[in-house]
Amino acid sequence: MLERGEVANSWRTERWDSLRLLTPNWQSRLPGLRYVGPDPDGYMTMAEVTAFIERFAALSRAPVRAGTTVTSVRRTDDGYHVSTTRGELACRAVVIASGACNQPSVPALAGAVPASVEQLTPFDYRDPAKLPDGGVLVVGASATGVQLAAELQRSGRPVTLSVGEHVRLPRTYRGRDVLWWMDASGVWDQRYDEVEDLTRARRLPSPQLVGTPERTTLDLNALASIGVELTGRWAAVRDGRALFSGGLRNVFSLADLKMRRLLDTFDEWARTNGRDAEVGPPERFPPTGVPASTRLQVDLGSGEIRTIVWATGFRPDYGWLDVPALDAKGQLRHEGGVADSPGLYALGLPVLRRRRSTFICGIEDDARAVIDHLARYLAVPGVI
Ligand SMILES: Cc1cc2nc3c(=O)[nH]c(=O)nc-3n(C[C@H](O)[C@H](O)[C@H](O)COP(=O)(O)OP(=O)(O)OC[C@H]3O[C@@H](n4cnc5c(N)ncnc54)[C@H](O)[C@@H]3O)c2cc1C
Repeated sequence: MLERGEVANSWRTERWDSLRLLTPNWQSRLPGLRYVGPDPDGYMTMAEVTAFIERFAALSRAPVRAGTTVTSVRRTDDGYHVSTTRGELACRAVVIASGACNQPSVPALAGAVPASVEQLTPFDYRDPAKLPDGGVLVVGASATGVQLAAELQRSGRPVTLSVGEHVRLPRTYRGRDVLWWMDASGVWDQRYDEVEDLTRARRLPSPQLVGTPERTTLDLNALASIGVELTGRWAAVRDGRALFSGGLRNVFSLADLKMRRLLDTFDEWARTNGRDAEVGPPERFPPTGVPASTRLQVDLGSGEIRTIVWATGFRPDYGWLDVPALDAKGQLRHEGGVADSPGLYALGLPVLRRRRSTFICGIEDDARAVIDHLARYLAVPGVI
């Protein structure tokens, strides 16, 4: 196992200080290791996640070569040649487990933002105190965007949140964590080859959730109630002005509708599986409030916005992969983790084999299936 940093590198180095997992503790499962502490419904801090993964590395005796960056993987006659910062390797098979979120995804319009405005990605952001005083424009209203918008607004900086397509969820539903419902009702068990639009499922933004001891819901209504200003999707920069799309009402109704449909699915599952008695009564939540007026543009040169935080998602970095196995969008072409090159495999990607693959708890089943394929591949001598 080659790791450029240390075990749990992404959790140590690429996350902001206040972040907690949005999955509850009992859901952080790795093969043979489960949460056994006093707070199964709580959410791990980054230090706790790091300790959890370190523990797994020790228990599983994973042969990790830390501080070893892979700089190139290329195909040879009988497998792959791997170049690293600590030497060369030859192998018959390679498992790519380098993560799906190696780089923040920042749209090209960032290049047109005036130099007087500071720009940050979630990889640069640690806590509000590092930002200049004054207004902040947070772009993107998925898990990262809503969490940073709330934290920055509470720090006394006026926040404008640019909202595009998003997934709205309550933190708890009928008395249980909403991710309990995803797990129990089988939504997360849906296989990649049963998903109607797999490309879309793999690109779906993260849900508007935050892990807090109070189990609070952090949707757009919650943000508006603490004073965050909501605007539409950032469409362009013209003459130093940020131009936002209109039509917030439609964007909000779509997210509300999808949430209602999901809650209906949960209710149906509880009813047909005789689980109604163990949970609270069905709940419905107020629609997302559309502000009386929304700004369609902001003058970026006026000094109102001092910082832009790009919470516009993440993407993998395959800059080191010299194998033609990527699609036009730079994503790895694979069938349930079996990549489009003999002996090349992937783990840890969204909806790799099931919807739960996106999360830590998805790895056990995925790894079993992928390694099973890999073992069969290696068992046939000379076949490449
Ligand atoms: C902000 C954020 C919040 C998240 N919250 C949750 C959550 O609450 N619950 C949950 O279940 N999941 C969450 N996830 C998803 C979670 O990160 C993944 O499910 C999980 O990290 C996948 O583990 P991984 O080991 O495959 O990838 P990673 O954790 O990304 O690990 C990949 C490793 O590969 C190393 N690497 C990369 N390139 C190279 C190279 N060229 N050479 C050597 N080493 C390399 C990296 O240093 C890193 O250590 C979150 C993700 C993000 C980005």
